[in-house]
This record gives sequence, structure tokens and C-alpha cells, in this order.
Amino acid sequence: MTAPTDEALPPACTCPTPWTELLAVIEGQRLHARPADTLGPAAALYRAQCATCSAEYPGHWRLVPGQRRIL
Ligand SMILES: [Zn+2]
Repeated sequence: MTAPTDEALPPACTCPTPWTELLAVIEGQRLHARPADTLGPAAALYRAQCATCSAEYPGHWRLVPGQRRIL
């Protein structure tokens, strides 16, 4: 059995300006996120990625406030 190497380092953002815009997919919704010094509540459960190249953001992030969420 060959398991996927999910412990491998995530691919880095390859955009001219890395991590310009972050996107988090939460409950099927694409929400804007941004880098933060501390882990936001959503970041504990979900992953953020570059909105352009889809590289997974390795650092802490928070959702941009004021966005609608369907709960
Ligand atoms: Zn990127």
C-alpha cells in the first residue's frame, strides 16, 4: 500500500507578491482571509490558501470580518 505523503511541506505561493490574497473555504463558501499574528477561530478548523495559485498558507490567518456566513 502506498499512502500519500500528507506530511510533506505544503507548496509555497509562487505569485509575484506572495500571499497577496488569501481564501478559506468554509462550509463550501469561499471567504477572504488575511495573515494574522495569532490563530483565528476558523484557522483551527480550516485551511487558507492563496486566492491566485491555491498554495496552502502555512502561517496563522484570520477571516476578514464583515463577510456573510451561512450557519
Ligand atoms: Zn499564490
